[in-house]
Amino acid sequence: MLNSSLRQLGSVLRAKKISSVELTQMYLDRIATLNSELNAYITVNPEASLAQAREADAVLAQGKGQALTGIPIAQKDIFCAKGWRTTCGSKMLHNFVSPYDAHVISQFNNTGAVNLGKTNMDEFAMGSSNETSHYGAVKNPWDTARVPGGSSGGSAAAVAARLCAAATGTDTGGSIRQPAALCGISGLKPTYGVVSRYGMIAFASSLDQAGPMARSAEDLALLLNTMAGFDERDSTSLQCEPEDYARDLDKPLNGLRIGLPREFFAEGLSSDVGLAVGTAIAEYKKLGASVVDISLPNSRLSIPVYYVLAPAEASSNLSRFDGVRYGYRAPEYTDLADMYEKSRAQGFGAEVKRRIMIGTYVLSHGYYDAYYLQAQKIRRLIAQDFVEAFKQCDIIMGPTSPTTAFNLGEKGDDPVQMYLSDIYTIAVNLAGLPGMSIPAGFGANNMPVGLQIIGTYFAEAQMLNVAHQYQLATDWHSRAPQNIKL
Ligand code: GLN
Repeated sequence: MLNSSLRQLGSVLRAKKISSVELTQMYLDRIATLNSELNAYITVNPEASLAQAREADAVLAQGKGQALTGIPIAQKDIFCAKGWRTTCGSKMLHNFVSPYDAHVISQFNNTGAVNLGKTNMDEFAMGSSNETSHYGAVKNPWDTARVPGGSSGGSAAAVAARLCAAATGTDTGGSIRQPAALCGISGLKPTYGVVSRYGMIAFASSLDQAGPMARSAEDLALLLNTMAGFDERDSTSLQCEPEDYARDLDKPLNGLRIGLPREFFAEGLSSDVGLAVGTAIAEYKKLGASVVDISLPNSRLSIPVYYVLAPAEASSNLSRFDGVRYGYRAPEYTDLADMYEKSRAQGFGAEVKRRIMIGTYVLSHGYYDAYYLQAQKIRRLIAQDFVEAFKQCDIIMGPTSPTTAFNLGEKGDDPVQMYLSDIYTIAVNLAGLPGMSIPAGFGANNMPVGLQIIGTYFAEAQMLNVAHQYQLATDWHSRAPQNIKL
């Protein structure tokens, strides 16, 4: 059961070979046994999950089950879910119980999926290792001395350790793809605007995008079918016709032109990751694809651009956390200004404060033109590079992360080293493009390597096809961490 695909789980549920209550209880039992070691979940609420499972069973009994009805899905703790504590990995929201559902949560609820719990994450999604979480670091199920990646590390670890059937994540600069790569699972960041951000706690609104995390591309397609869709409550939600993201899974790849950006295979890429990615590309050639050398000349500027724009937006978004209406409030203060200061000083962690300070600085009078405006201009150039590249190829491939999972604590004192984890993912967010990561073998110390697949705008169905064909030809995606009880 733990290795079943979502499609298989859906059919055994609809055939009533197992009930949603039994399936949900099985995962809750696993979480009770294994979460103390992995710390993948911040909050579980067995009563709420089992109540949803009972409702799903009633729907299934009437023969009205849909693709995900009764399937337990873990939700990143960045999504507001009614009646659930929603912390965003921060002390600031340690006591916040959401009075409403994010769009993504209501989409899953409407289809009858079960909310299995809220997964651990870097504080306000700022980080690449899950070590900035107020609730403690998540451990990588492949080696618990190593990080799972971030910021959706709890979701990635939960999927890899079979502590849920699938999960959600969010990706502002790589937070779905990088943890997916480091934990040996599949993850997709859709085109900006495909999934509504309503009720998803904002980090950098022009970059944030929610997406699915699962063991296979086929599972991702089913999840995206539920998550995507227009929502008038998000002004950047796109009015597109609903599509079936699984429609092209079985297409052959003959004639596919894969662009390999030379900048993604240069200095900084560790040799074990380069080797595994090279082997994956060779597999694609066997499947009928050809390879084109391309260039993304401005991509080298994506980290500095991102670390101007994302903190700028974050400093504005996070100004709402002031201790007044909800969230953390300092126990002692003298007056209102002191209450704001102390609540924010005590409620936010070091990385969040660093970003608020950078963001406030780059937006301040006198520096705005030099930093923020310049970064916006380069952002456009980075996006334009992809437009040019897609004239020569159908899909872009490269590594997701420059290295496999590093040790807990290894990069804690060096923010710039930590920021470099996203060197291959951030340009995709700056351009608003869809990107995904799929397992493509193992590197040093037997840690998983991720292959990144980047498509043009709205190419999700094609990317899932490209990923699925590889997963039919290889079995990297079905490997499970050995030290996890199955
Ligand atoms: N690691 C990047 C950061 O720290 C990206 C995070 C994300 O995508 N949410 O900002």
